[in-house]
Amino acid sequence: MNTLIESTSDIMPLLNGAYFVAAILFIFSLIGLSKQESAEHGVWYGIVGMAIALVATVMNPSVSNIQMILIAMVIGGTIGTWFALRVEMTQMPELVAMLHSFVGLAAVAVGFNSFIEHEPMSGIMLNIHLVEVFLGVFIGAVTFTGSIVAFGKLRGILSSKSLMLPHRHKLNLLAGIVSFALMIYFVQQQGNMTALLIMAAIALVFGWHLVASIGGADMPVVVSMLNSYSGWAAAAAGFLLGNDLLIVTGALVGSSGAILSYIMCKAMNRSFISVIAGGFGTDVVVNSDQDYGEHVETNAEEVADMLVNAKSVIITPGYGMAVAQAQYPVYELTKNLRDKGIEVRFGIHPVAGRLPGHMNVLLAEAKVPYDIVLEMDELNDDFDETDVVLVIGANDTVNPAALDDPNSPIAGMPVLEVWNAKQVIAFKRSMNPGYAGVQNPLFFKDNTSMLFGDAKASVDNIVKAL
Ligand code: NDP
Repeated sequence: MNTLIESTSDIMPLLNGAYFVAAILFIFSLIGLSKQESAEHGVWYGIVGMAIALVATVMNPSVSNIQMILIAMVIGGTIGTWFALRVEMTQMPELVAMLHSFVGLAAVAVGFNSFIEHEPMSGIMLNIHLVEVFLGVFIGAVTFTGSIVAFGKLRGILSSKSLMLPHRHKLNLLAGIVSFALMIYFVQQQGNMTALLIMAAIALVFGWHLVASIGGADMPVVVSMLNSYSGWAAAAAGFLLGNDLLIVTGALVGSSGAILSYIMCKAMNRSFISVIAGGFGTDVVVNSDQDYGEHVETNAEEVADMLVNAKSVIITPGYGMAVAQAQYPVYELTKNLRDKGIEVRFGIHPVAGRLPGHMNVLLAEAKVPYDIVLEMDELNDDFDETDVVLVIGANDTVNPAALDDPNSPIAGMPVLEVWNAKQVIAFKRSMNPGYAGVQNPLFFKDNTSMLFGDAKASVDNIVKAL
């Protein structure tokens, strides 16, 4: 017994030191990830920090069933590696949403476990513990179902349109009030399983409804918001387990996710409160019967002619470029035009594609020079001096309805104002709407021509024609 106590007191400072180093590495990881050039280093800091954290946790003398933990780690690690090696770039947000749901579920399990089995305590300490249990289960359950709905929407299993239940905001408010009342009862009773179970059920439905009622175009904010929730859920689990590193890591994820959500809301002209409250104040009805007129089709040879006669060209890529993997022929096209003395620039919308920075990563992968890849704000005023705009697989991010139609679900979202250019070519496969599920009047404008087909094949054909 004495030997165990001695060895425990020997190893604890070492473990605390390891946790401290891991926490510092996580902070460096976030700093590295904030810039494209240092992102790879950021990822490595994170990997090393997590490895140190895992080893230190397993070596903790209070961990009794080490075999079970190792078996779980091998199974989890194998499944994680298998998925990570197979997942396409376009499926990353789905994977992230799924991983958030695991964090939520883990927080619920830790919450219930800490309620059923905890050190004997009384008075204020017991009350604090009960509040931690209650909040941990609440945040975890909301994150769990919210992330599953986000996964379904991103994967296309669930409709990306917002669910409009009657009195939906009152229902959300009611869920909040009842949960709060249950928490007071739970603490007053010095713990009550029925109250905890009822709250967990309410929180599961609340999380599902919260994300289901947010429309497709606001999904980027939802993903970063769930990222933030998963961080707070992990921090709550850290309090329950008495694990400082989990508290620090959870707080880092929670606060950085909240800051990212806020920045995204500002970039998309959305109210932060509205999005976190389940689309509060966005009660719009999509009118799918509107007649937009006729669209005009073109072909690769005509587009090649247009391009060689142009002085300035802007390419605005979107999700379709990622699906088609068209970034490599797009690079060829860019090089070909620049060799002919034609100015080519790229306009990147902050939420183009399916994850922040998606287009920048694809273009960098294809070796498109950084200096011609510009943010939306940097070139939105230049379209009226541009001869040709190639809209490659973008839709919602170039939709003029965001500015012209106050009833549109994407109303108020800043967009690339491509229609101000002399000629616009839209590359897509059909007249189907974009992710937000709304038709795009751009495709029916007089200066827009549609180039139908897979974006990669279309760009390849243009390069050949050039
Ligand atoms: P959209 O998703 O609005 O539209 C993509 C277009 O690409 C579609 O119209 C589709 O038309 C076309 N397309 C698909 N595959 C191909 C292909 N192989 N070849 C040619 N065209 C193709 O794209 P945007 O990038 O403009 O907008 C992104 C949307 O995703 C926004 O609503 C944003 O809010 C949302 N979102 C963004 C996230 C982020 O973090 N960036 C995360 C989650 C959602 P067709 O089928 O006819 O070919």
